[in-house]
Amino acid sequence: MNRKPDVLIVGAGIAGLTAARDLCLMGLKVTLLEARDRIGGRILTHHTPEFPVELGAEFVHGRPPDLWHLLQEAKMPLAELEGISWYHERGTWARADGMMPEFGEVFGAMADKQPDQSFQQYLETVDAGEEAKDHALRFIEGFHAADPQRVSVHWLVRSNQAEEEIQGDRQYRTVTGYDTLVQFIAGQLPKENCELRLNTVVEEVRWTSGSIIVKTNAGEFESPRVLITVPIALLKSGTIRFSPELPHKQKALAYLEMGPVVRVILCFGAKFWEGRLKDLSFMFTDDEQFPTWWASHPLPFPILTGWAAGSYARKLSGLDHNQIIECALQSLERILGIHHAELRQHFKAGFTHDWQADPFSQGAYSYAVAGGSNAPQELAAPVADTLFFAGEATDPNGHNGTVHGAISSGHRAAREILATV
Ligand SMILES: Cc1cc2nc3c(=O)[nH]c(=O)nc-3n(C[C@H](O)[C@H](O)[C@H](O)COP(=O)(O)OP(=O)(O)OC[C@H]3O[C@@H](n4cnc5c(N)ncnc54)[C@H](O)[C@@H]3O)c2cc1C
Repeated sequence: MNRKPDVLIVGAGIAGLTAARDLCLMGLKVTLLEARDRIGGRILTHHTPEFPVELGAEFVHGRPPDLWHLLQEAKMPLAELEGISWYHERGTWARADGMMPEFGEVFGAMADKQPDQSFQQYLETVDAGEEAKDHALRFIEGFHAADPQRVSVHWLVRSNQAEEEIQGDRQYRTVTGYDTLVQFIAGQLPKENCELRLNTVVEEVRWTSGSIIVKTNAGEFESPRVLITVPIALLKSGTIRFSPELPHKQKALAYLEMGPVVRVILCFGAKFWEGRLKDLSFMFTDDEQFPTWWASHPLPFPILTGWAAGSYARKLSGLDHNQIIECALQSLERILGIHHAELRQHFKAGFTHDWQADPFSQGAYSYAVAGGSNAPQELAAPVADTLFFAGEATDPNGHNGTVHGAISSGHRAAREILATV
């Protein structure tokens, strides 16, 4: 491409790729600057010879239209989650569906009419048993990877409403791996007006109205406009500098946090747990290291995924790959009451990815802290028709921290850009 691109896009995760596709389809020239040696960002699938292993996003939450449209275009088969979810506490097993009334008790009174507060503050006002409250706290940390002492109740209310609107109680898995979607979108980018630059780490964005210079480890790039799609942790930490600075964005970012997650996938020779826990879907436990586990049901793969989020993830930080796998195996021994030697006999391989230590994510996904439920909109707002923002953290409708939220943000940013051309 000889002439300057119409748009520079920083980040080739699902938000950046979605925006690139929309813009190219409308005839704009786009250059995607991606720091890693791969596209997809927090969608990261490892393909073993037998099955895909998801190290980042795994589930399709509900039926969000933008994502479903793409999945259909890409002809990607999905499997709806079925099976039985269990609760394991103080050595006792109970079916997890029995907990729904208890959840209703705790979350039912959450509203966005009163002034915003943290979930912990809200919980202190709720008339519910200690055990129900404890389960609710674990849910907030486990699902949202959020600190209960900080996460905004208004943001949680919006997130719950958003889920209801897309049938969020139904969950699906991609059969061929989430990266099939990434490759599909990338395959649709026309070579003649889209350039993808991998291994290109953006360090600074110098801007005036209608003019951008992006400084990277591989030289400078110029364009009339730029779309920033990187995870918020990189913007909060100043890893990418803006010159002049963007005080409004820093204010919004102060109300957004990135939750930590450590996820482990253990592959076994067979589904040895089926004898005891037939049709296992999820296990929610009081384990101190990996409290949440799930199987691949209804897909037949003999894998178990361990999930440690929030404070649980922080406790594991600094451990190397082998130490994390070891912790996960010990956690399974405790939960399943299985002997060390027996578990090792079944165990074939383990995978993990440290999203906190990964310099290009510095965490798993975003949430808003008390007082900041409008921070996603504020972060998303374009500056001088020159700087545009997308990525999961910018979704204003409560779909933060998801693939579909990131996709919608890419479409939204593309529309904003097209309106200025
Ligand atoms: C462990 C885990 C599990 C998850 N599970 C689910 C799930 O089951 N379902 C679901 O819907 N969502 C899930 N998510 C969330 C989902 O993966 C993300 O919300 C979504 O993929 C984010 O897309 P994005 O384009 O906004 O950001 P990213 O995918 O992070 O893309 C941003 C891109 O910017 C690049 N970048 C960063 N810094 C620079 C720089 N300086 N210069 C150039 N490029 C840079 C990055 O390398 C990256 O490619 C999960 C996330 C994690 C981490």
